[in-house]
Amino acid sequence: MSIDWPAVHAEAEAILRDYLRIDTTNPPGNESAAARFLGGILEAEGIATEYAEPQPGRALVHARLRGDGSRRPLLLGNHTDVVPVEEEYWTVPAFAGEVRDGRIYGRGAIDMKGCGVMQLIAVLLAHRARLPLRRDLVFLAVPDEEAGSRWGMRWVIEQRPDLVDAEYALNEGSLPREVSGRRLFPIAVNEKFGSAIRLVAVGRPGHGSFVHEDNSMVRLARALVRLAEWDRGITFTPETQTYVARLAEAGLMPAAADAGALHATIRERRGLLPMFTNTLNVTMVRAGVKSNVLPARSEATLDCRLLPGESRETWRRAVEAVVDDAQIAVELANPDAPEPPPATPWNTELFAAIESSARSAFEDAVVVPSMTIGATDNRYLRAAGVIAYSFVPGIYSPEELASFHGNDEFITVENLRLGCELTYDIVRRMCT
Ligand SMILES: [Zn+2]
Repeated sequence: MSIDWPAVHAEAEAILRDYLRIDTTNPPGNESAAARFLGGILEAEGIATEYAEPQPGRALVHARLRGDGSRRPLLLGNHTDVVPVEEEYWTVPAFAGEVRDGRIYGRGAIDMKGCGVMQLIAVLLAHRARLPLRRDLVFLAVPDEEAGSRWGMRWVIEQRPDLVDAEYALNEGSLPREVSGRRLFPIAVNEKFGSAIRLVAVGRPGHGSFVHEDNSMVRLARALVRLAEWDRGITFTPETQTYVARLAEAGLMPAAADAGALHATIRERRGLLPMFTNTLNVTMVRAGVKSNVLPARSEATLDCRLLPGESRETWRRAVEAVVDDAQIAVELANPDAPEPPPATPWNTELFAAIESSARSAFEDAVVVPSMTIGATDNRYLRAAGVIAYSFVPGIYSPEELASFHGNDEFITVENLRLGCELTYDIVRRMCT
């Protein structure tokens, strides 16, 4: 069956505009309306859907097209909630689904209702074309991703693992863009993981009128300066080694053999640097009770994101060595956090399918394994043994990418169209 793409494009645009009008700001979320909206479209086509409600008003929707069972399922996963809006900084309404100059505006347009619609369309098209599927094609739209997934993917993994029993999964997190005239398709096969650290400095309390040499706040400040000036170097993981090799091959980066130039390039590109180093940022400091009382105890919290393969305890010890002060305790802020999932392979059928799909759309596409520097729901899927990748098809402009969690969030009509076509193409390659 040949697909009437202009009609599909119009359909996708209309669905996304309606979807953006559903306010799923998290907190509180209220994602049930979004689940019912997406589920309603699937049901209208005769696709069996199922809802589950981890919390009142916070439903998820799940749909499955049955395959012949010769391969294990492919899961298309997305989240229905969005981050809050600072209305005063928006020049377009955030929940109206407005289209201006080829851009579809609204909170969630790029994170990630647009991608959710691409996935929905792929399922609709696979169903309409009656594709002979060798594996189940599963659609899952969950709440609560933006607030830690307690009532979303984490709940699914704990309470309804049957919904994500899949060999492969695609979810948000990595977006193609143009680099020096070439189209770069990063497929994030792993992600960094959080390992916040707390510093607790202890000094001697006393009256503000005296001369003191043991102020816990001064001690803490010195430690923070040492940490800020700490050069943690550049580290290559298996995926970033290949990332660099493929970019070098395309003439977009110095080769690994030219270490000096390569390291300089990585340091220069601030957006790239977190893929090659553990990050550390002071985000909270707490000390003092009164202007004339020396604080006996001062605390700082550091947001730290570690590369795949690192360990939280090794990291804590490295921070402790830099702090180098017996009067400052260096602790893991979340000691009970689960260990990060094992690395996900990238020499897989799904990687190859995305690569072929990207190359069929753009001959010069540079397809590279990558990692997401922030957390996505894929971390739960990977821990459950699913080969989960982050990839949102399209060619996104810097402006579009900047609207991620920003003001005047938008996706271009063109990217929505391209995204629908590529998602369907990937599904077809994977499932038939
Ligand atoms: Zn998101």
